Amino acid sequence: MQKEQADPNTTASTSGHRHVPGGYHGNYLSVNLGPDDQTSVTAQRVSIDPSVLRRFLGGSGLGTWLLLEHGSATCDPLSPAAAIAFVFSPLVGSPLTTSAKFAVVSKSPLTDRINDSLASSGFAIAGKSVGCDALVVTGQAASPSILVIDQDEVRLEPAESLWGATCSDTQRQLTERFSSGWQFAVIGPAGERLVRYATISHDGRHAGRGGSGAVLGAKNIKAIAVRGTKTCQWAAPGDLLQLAKAMSKKSMGSATDKYRELGTATNLLLFNRLNTLPTRNFQQGYFEGAAALSPESMSIARKRTRAYCAACTIGCEHIYALSDQEGADGVRLEYENLFALGPLCGIGDPDVVLNASRRCDDMGIDTISAGGTIAFAMECVQRGQLDQPWLRFGDGVALLKAIELIGTGEGFGRELAQGSRRLAKSIGGDSIRFAAQVKGLELPGYEPRSLQTMALGLAVGTRGADHNRSGAYEVDFSARADRHDLVPATAALAIETEDKAALIDSLILCKFLRGIFTDFYGEAAEMLNLVTGWETTADELQCVSRRIITAKKWFNILAGWTPDEDTLPARFLNQPLPDDPAAQLDKQQLSASIRMYNEQRGWSPEGWIDRQHLEDLGLACFDRRAMGFEVACVSSRR
Ligand code: SF4
Repeated sequence: MQKEQADPNTTASTSGHRHVPGGYHGNYLSVNLGPDDQTSVTAQRVSIDPSVLRRFLGGSGLGTWLLLEHGSATCDPLSPAAAIAFVFSPLVGSPLTTSAKFAVVSKSPLTDRINDSLASSGFAIAGKSVGCDALVVTGQAASPSILVIDQDEVRLEPAESLWGATCSDTQRQLTERFSSGWQFAVIGPAGERLVRYATISHDGRHAGRGGSGAVLGAKNIKAIAVRGTKTCQWAAPGDLLQLAKAMSKKSMGSATDKYRELGTATNLLLFNRLNTLPTRNFQQGYFEGAAALSPESMSIARKRTRAYCAACTIGCEHIYALSDQEGADGVRLEYENLFALGPLCGIGDPDVVLNASRRCDDMGIDTISAGGTIAFAMECVQRGQLDQPWLRFGDGVALLKAIELIGTGEGFGRELAQGSRRLAKSIGGDSIRFAAQVKGLELPGYEPRSLQTMALGLAVGTRGADHNRSGAYEVDFSARADRHDLVPATAALAIETEDKAALIDSLILCKFLRGIFTDFYGEAAEMLNLVTGWETTADELQCVSRRIITAKKWFNILAGWTPDEDTLPARFLNQPLPDDPAAQLDKQQLSASIRMYNEQRGWSPEGWIDRQHLEDLGLACFDRRAMGFEVACVSSRR
C-alpha cells in the first residue's frame, strides 16, 4: 500500500505572502483513495484563499463551497468521484463553549441534494490539529480500509476484521488498536450496506441525517482515524478568553435550563397537548401513550445520567438505563429519536423505544429516517397496500425486527433501507401522498398542519424536511405568527430563522446556545473578530448567511432541482388534521408563501437564481463552471 506525505510546503502560512486569518490553517487536506483497480492513496494540502474563508467561514458554509469546487453536484453520491468533506471551523479548539464541532457535507444518497450533518466530539479538535480546515475525501479504496491521517502522513490500513462490526464495537476496537491521542469517525453495518440514511458515528454521537455513512461506505472506508499537534493562533487571545468565560456563564443560565433539566425531549407533552406530536405516520397529532415516554416519567422510572459534548458547558444529553439490561450502557435519548421510534410508529413502551434507539446507533442508522420509513410501511400495511403483515403500528417486536433487517440488509430491510420516497415508488398506488418526506428526507417531529411557518421551512429546505436548518417552529410557538394560518408575510420570519441557522452551522456553535444572545449577528461578529483578526460586522455576517443558503440552493439546481420539489406531501394539504379542524394547511397559501420566500431571497418566484444574483453574492465562478446546467435552468423557466 502506497503511503504519501501530504506536502507541507503547499500549506498556506502566515510567514508566506498569503495571510492566514486567526483560527484557520488556510488549507484543506484533499485525500484521493484511488480508483477501483489501485491500492494507493494520495493526499495534498490545498490552499484556501482567505477571501473564501471570510465568505463561507467553516462548517456547512465552507463545506458547500468545497463540494461546488469538486463538482459534486452532478456526481452519483455513491460513486468514487463523489466528494465527502469533514469541515471544521475557525472556532474549533478555541475556549468558546460548544465549539468542538464539525460538519460532514456531501451530496445525499437519500435526496440527491446537498447534505450537511453537524456533530460534536473530540474528532473536530483532533481533525483540525492535523493542520487543515477541512478534509475532503474522493475515490474508492480497493478493499475495506481505515483512512489514517497522522498529521502529515496519510495511509490506508486494512479493515476487513472490522467489517460488519457495530459503531460502538468499531470504536472500541480502534481505541485498543491505536494509542492515545487518536479520534475516530466510523460507520456501522448500515453504512457498509449503503443504507441511504446511514450515519457516521464518533464517540457515540452521530452525523445523522441524509446518508453520509453510505457515502463513506461506498468508498470502502470503515473509519477515519485522525491525530495531530498543529494549532492555530487567535487574533486576540486575552479578550477571547474573557468573552469565552462570559459566554460559558450565560450558557449555564435560564436560557438553557430546559435542556439541562430534561434534555431535548422536554417539550414532548407540550407538543402532544398542542396536537403537534406526529403519531402513526402523521395520521394524528396526539399520542395517547405520550405520558409514559415523557422525560418527566422516564426520569422517575429509571436511572438517568447527564452527558456533555466535548467543550460544552450546557450538557443537554440525557442517558437512560434500560430496565431489562442491568449494568449495560445507557441510551442517549433525544426528542427526535423518541418521536420517530415512539409515537410515529405507535409505540408507547419506553424500553422498546430505548432499545430501538440503541440498535439504530449500533447499526449507524438515522433514527428519524428509520422511524419515518418504518411508520410509512406500517401505514401501507394498515391500508392493505403492502404485504408485510407483521409490520403493524404499536408492535415493538416488529419495530426492532425492522431495524435489524435494515442494518443487516436482509429481506424487506433492503427496501426499507431506500427511505420512504423510494419505497413509495416501489409500492405504487397513491402511497406517495402519505410518505412523509420532502426531497426524500423524512419529516422531523413537528406536525406541519399545526405549525405552519415550520411547514414553509420544511418545504423549501435545501436539505429536505429538516428542523435544524430551519428553526421556523420557534416562530409558530411565539406571538409573531398564527401557527394555524400561513400567510405570505410569514416568509420573512422563516428566512430569519434559516439565516441564523446557516451562520451557527458555519461558525460552528451549538444551536442550543441561541437563546443566550441578545444581538446574535453583532455578538457573532465580535467573537469572530477576536478569533480571526477580521473587522467583520453584523451586516456582513447576515450577507454570509444569505450567500451560504444561496450556494446550497445553487448546488441543488446543478444537481437537477426543480420547483415542484419545494412542497409537502399531499397528506398535509387541504385536509385538516383529524380531531383538529383548525390545523388545515391550504395548498394555495403554501404556494403563495413559497413564492414570497423565493422573492425575498432574491431568487425568481419559482426559486431559480439568475447570474446577477450569483455575482452579487460572489458565487459567479460556480455559474461559469456549470454554464451548461445554468443555461438549462434559465431556459426551462418562464
Ligand atoms: S448543548 Fe447538548 S448538543 Fe449542544 S454541545 Fe452541549 S451537549 Fe452537545
